[in-house]
Amino acid sequence: MAQVPLAGLTLDAARHHGSAAGLDAFGLELVPRAWRQIMRDGAAGLHLLQDINPRKRAALAAVFSHQLPEIASTHASWDKSVRYALRLPDGAIVEAVLIPHHGLWSVCLSSQAGCALACQFCATGRMGLQRNLLAHEITGQVLAIQHHARVRVSDLVFMGMGEPLQNEHEVLAACAVFAENEGMQIGRRRMVISTAGIVPAIDRFAAAGHKMKLVFSLGSAVPEKRAQLMPIQELWPFERLLASIRNYAATLRGRYVTLEYIAIRNLTLGDDDIEAIKKHLTGFKFILNIIPLNPVDPLLEAPTREEVLAWSSRLRPLGFPVKIRRSSGRDQFSACGQLGRTLLSATDLAEAPRMGRAV
Ligand code: SF4
Repeated sequence: MAQVPLAGLTLDAARHHGSAAGLDAFGLELVPRAWRQIMRDGAAGLHLLQDINPRKRAALAAVFSHQLPEIASTHASWDKSVRYALRLPDGAIVEAVLIPHHGLWSVCLSSQAGCALACQFCATGRMGLQRNLLAHEITGQVLAIQHHARVRVSDLVFMGMGEPLQNEHEVLAACAVFAENEGMQIGRRRMVISTAGIVPAIDRFAAAGHKMKLVFSLGSAVPEKRAQLMPIQELWPFERLLASIRNYAATLRGRYVTLEYIAIRNLTLGDDDIEAIKKHLTGFKFILNIIPLNPVDPLLEAPTREEVLAWSSRLRPLGFPVKIRRSSGRDQFSACGQLGRTLLSATDLAEAPRMGRAV
C-alpha cells in the first residue's frame, strides 16, 4: 500500500488508514502521537518525531509520509504581513501570506499552483494552471508558516493562488483537517473560500451546508465589463451566477453574502456601475467589499483612495453595507491580485491572460 501524507488526513482518517495498512496495536497507538506532533508542533518530517522510538518510526514511515513545503523565500512588508514562497516536492512554487489582524494571525493560502481562469486583474491568472494542490500541500502551507513564524493561525482565507472550487475535493479535505479539535483548531466559520464563480460547485457547497464562508469575486456588476475582466463568464453567464449566489444566500439564515468588487479607474467606478448594482444585485442580503486594484495589467489603472471613497459614498443610499478593503503587503507583491507576480517573466506580464491555459 502506498504511503499516505499524514498532513492531509483527519485524525480518524489517519487511524483508519493505519489499520487498513496493517499497523499492529503499538503502531496504531503511535498514529495519534505522530499526527498531533505534526498538527500542533509543525514537525517538518516524520524523522523529526522526537519522542518516538526510531524502529517504531520506521514502521510508521512505511505507511505514512510527511514533508512540509520548503520555504523558498519570505518577504516582509512594512505592515507586518509576510509573503511566503513555498516550494513543493515537484518544484512547483506557491505563495501564501501571513497577515496580522487585531492581535490574531490569518493566512491567505493557495489551492492551486497557478490558475486557469485568467482574470485580467490578477497576476496568478497570467501563469496558467500548473496543477491542483493536494490536501496536505494546502495544510502544509499553514503548518510551515506557523512553524517558521512561531505563531498560531486562527483564520484562513482561500484567496491566494488558484480557484479553490476548481480543486473542491482537496480544499474541503484540507478544511476538515484544519478544523480538527485535537489539531490546528481553526473553526470552520473562520475559513473563507473565495470563488470567481464555479456555478455547479457553488450549488454543491450550498446543498452541503458547509460552515465555511463562501465569498464571491464579482469583479464588476455590468455583465459586459465582468466578461472582460473575468473570462469565466463565458462558461456561466452573470444571471446564472447570481441565481447560484441567491440560492447560497438562502442557506445563510439572514447572514450577509460578501461580494468582492474590483475598483478600477475609468472602468468600474462609473454611473453605469451603480445602475448595474441596483438592477442586478437584488433578492439577497450582501456586503459589497470594494478592493482597489493592485495593478498587474498595463491596460488597467488603479484608482486613488479619494476616487474610491467618492464612488462608494454614492452607494450609501442603496442601503447595503459597503467596505473598502485595505490590501496587506502591496509593497512586497503580497496583496490581492499580486500573488505570483514575481514568478512571471516580462513576456508573461505583457501578454493578455488566456483562460484554460495549462503549463
Ligand atoms: S483572481 Fe483567483 S480565479 Fe481569477 S485568475 Fe486570479 S487566482 Fe485565478
